Amino acid sequence: MSTFEPGPVMDLRQRLADACRVLGVLGLATGNTGHLSVRVPDSDNLLIRARGPAEAGVRYTTPAEIIEVAPDGDVAAGVKDGLFPPQEVFIHTEVYRARSDVTSVVHVHPATVVLFTIADVPLLPIFGAYDPSALKLAIDGIPTYDRSVLISNPHLGHDLAAALGSKNVCLMRGHGITAAGTSIEEAALRAISLNELAEMNYRARQLGEPRPISDEDIATFATRPDAAKKPVNSNRTEAMWRYYLRLTGIAEG
Ligand SMILES: [Zn+2]
Repeated sequence: MSTFEPGPVMDLRQRLADACRVLGVLGLATGNTGHLSVRVPDSDNLLIRARGPAEAGVRYTTPAEIIEVAPDGDVAAGVKDGLFPPQEVFIHTEVYRARSDVTSVVHVHPATVVLFTIADVPLLPIFGAYDPSALKLAIDGIPTYDRSVLISNPHLGHDLAAALGSKNVCLMRGHGITAAGTSIEEAALRAISLNELAEMNYRARQLGEPRPISDEDIATFATRPDAAKKPVNSNRTEAMWRYYLRLTGIAEG
């Protein structure tokens, strides 16, 4: 079985906690703001990072802090250890409702990405081979959900899912980002790519006026097979994820 195929629920809890820790160490999620989820195989429920009395931040999430939630956002199997769903659980429930192709959802508040929504500055396709996955996000177009409120009810979740549309990443003005994928790791890697795109745009603006790469080169990358759209067990995705697990000390190398 591929590393990234849906596995036993215990494995999913571990993988979800690992992904929380990676995004925490990389600075995409500070403090307790941010949550990741995954569909429970053969069920309408999802697993999600919970809030609770003993939490120590996204960066330190443990498998015990992952709870199962029903499609309406309520805890599925009774409250355990005082854990409860995040207020914005409806980001997850409504994206899954709208997108049968999505298996995992990431919601975090990466500061540099949020700055672009505050200043209303576009994320430009300013590099090519430096990071094709991040470039592809810019080429494909990144939608923005224009409100800055907490997504604290199904109606707001529905609107956010509508803003995301058929894309896999969405900016949330003055708030954060939502990323979707066919596996926990794919969704997390997309969030990392979006953050990298923003970091490079930000730094380029410190030096001068960022210049998008040529139309010819954009066309070349636009027609390039999308590694992220290959089967979820693509070696490239697995290798990239192994790198982040080791970089962040979650896996030993
Ligand atoms: Zn949020």
